[in-house]
Amino acid sequence: MPNSSEHASSFAEARFAALLDAAVDAILVIDSNGQIETFNRAAERLFGYQSVEICGQNVSTLMPDKYSHAHDSYLQRYLTTGERRIIGIGREVSAMRRDGSVFPVELSVGEVATGEKRRFVGIIRDISERRASEQELRQQQERLEHVTRLGTLGEMAAGIAHEINQPLTAIATYAHAARRLLSSDRMDAVRLDDVLGKMATQAERAGQIIERIRDLARRQSPSQELCDLNAIMDETLKLAEVDARYHDAPIVVEMTPGLPHAWLNSVQIQQVVLNLLRNAIEAGGAGTKLKLRTYARSKEELVVEVEDNGPGVPESLRTEIFNPFFTTRTDGTGMGLSISRSIVASHGGRIEVDAAPTGGAVFRVTLPTALGEIDE
Ligand code: ADP
Repeated sequence: MPNSSEHASSFAEARFAALLDAAVDAILVIDSNGQIETFNRAAERLFGYQSVEICGQNVSTLMPDKYSHAHDSYLQRYLTTGERRIIGIGREVSAMRRDGSVFPVELSVGEVATGEKRRFVGIIRDISERRASEQELRQQQERLEHVTRLGTLGEMAAGIAHEINQPLTAIATYAHAARRLLSSDRMDAVRLDDVLGKMATQAERAGQIIERIRDLARRQSPSQELCDLNAIMDETLKLAEVDARYHDAPIVVEMTPGLPHAWLNSVQIQQVVLNLLRNAIEAGGAGTKLKLRTYARSKEELVVEVEDNGPGVPESLRTEIFNPFFTTRTDGTGMGLSISRSIVASHGGRIEVDAAPTGGAVFRVTLPTALGEIDE
């Protein structure tokens, strides 16, 4: 049906056509072969086609190539098996304008049961602006994180430098004094002993400062609760979603249900997995395929794996990448994996990297379960 009421054979149809054309969202109706029957005014504005020229064409004309081929088979599958992928559900997909430009839309599809003929109504909303603001937000968060990370690192480094510098300066001063004593005519053993004693004290102080910094890092293992690892991964996926979508890096999730519980700090474990996902996207670039997997290796051990199909980690670097400040990225800090390793260690677990079957990297986090403590 064109967008005017010229073919409307009844008042009801005329009213329907008027309603369609008044709608803000693009609305179209297709038949069971995917042929467009109705294309409202909002759809004309959105896609740049006139209703008269697009009606009769297959709806895949409005989709970018990679989706359009699949569409007919989706439709056929639904018609023969009733399997719903989108009908009555709605989801975000890509659409293509007349000029070939691709843009994100939210699509809801409903089925119209009129007599024998099956038809589908699609309501399409342009979400380019929403995506753009999501992206802006994401970039702002990234900038903020980067600044915070560098800021914290910088402050820590300045603090350490300051504290260690004091005993070092004192040691140098005492060393000079000791040399002067040695080269003087009258060697005063008592005074020399005193100076060397003071040097030793200062060196010990420097050692204590370093020990305090180590303590600080160790004590950062706050409360752990009895958790379901899969629930933590669900939360993590929500956080990773925008980033993954923005980089067109779909995450295939394979979580084994019914895993034994574990004592975990959920925020920290999320931080570890988010960091692994982000690293994987960074390594593989746009279009990377990611896998997030959870399973129990035994009654005592849970595993989370993040796999990508990027360039992988050469065997010679598989230990080194976990060292602080090791990075191959120009804007990297080299702290991500090192922090992840200490978080996992504070949970009594371990983290390692291997080659994935695709040649990419697979990071494997092994964590102890709480089975021995609660089930016996
Ligand atoms: P950063 O990301 O700041 O460089 P990380 O500790 O997170 O610091 O990572 C250290 C290095 O490990 C990266 O610079 C990169 O060389 C390597 N790396 C991490 N994850 C991957 C991955 N999924 N694929 C290939 N290399 C990786």
